[in-house]
Amino acid sequence: MHPIDDTSLAVALGANRPSAVGSPRATLLAVQPQLEARLRAWATQELVYRWSSLHDTAPVGGPPDQPPYCNAVLLVQGLKTPPSESAALQLLDALQGLEQEFGRDRSHEQRWGPRSLDLDLLFWGELRLEHPRLLLPHPRLHLRTFVLAPLLQAMQGSASR
Ligand code: ADP
Ligand code: MG
Repeated sequence: MHPIDDTSLAVALGANRPSAVGSPRATLLAVQPQLEARLRAWATQELVYRWSSLHDTAPVGGPPDQPPYCNAVLLVQGLKTPPSESAALQLLDALQGLEQEFGRDRSHEQRWGPRSLDLDLLFWGELRLEHPRLLLPHPRLHLRTFVLAPLLQAMQGSASR
């Protein structure tokens, strides 16, 4: 198991509606290199990426009868930037920009309803934030098997750069 340290950052990915690239599974596969590129641009340094596999999961909460999800977690290590509110908000902007590129339209959505791509920041080291746009660590991280199972897998997995 690779330890999490105070520079580690994790992003949860989820999708349960098709995007322009195809099924939720196809979307997450297409997002993976783009998320790495966004993180590289945001951090301006070489990072280590540990990916879970893609998990097919049943929806939790939200409207009844929504389609199953595809979920994954990316664990990022090697960050030299110390965790801060301003940097974390910039990262959230980058994640939301990527959601939009994959067809996410928040103006026509129900809470926890179907979405073509959801990117949540799970934690960044020990940073605790209660900003109106960003809660860290993610308040439901410990309640969601569809996040915890891929996170554990990412912690056990091999690294890429
Ligand atoms: P959810 O991810 O809970 O299903 P949304 O993706 O619709 O919900 O996001 C709703 C809002 O949650 C976003 O506008 C964002 O500003 C906010 N938010 C708060 N904390 C976080 C976080 N840790 N990661 C991502 N978004 C967050
Ligand atoms: Mg979200």
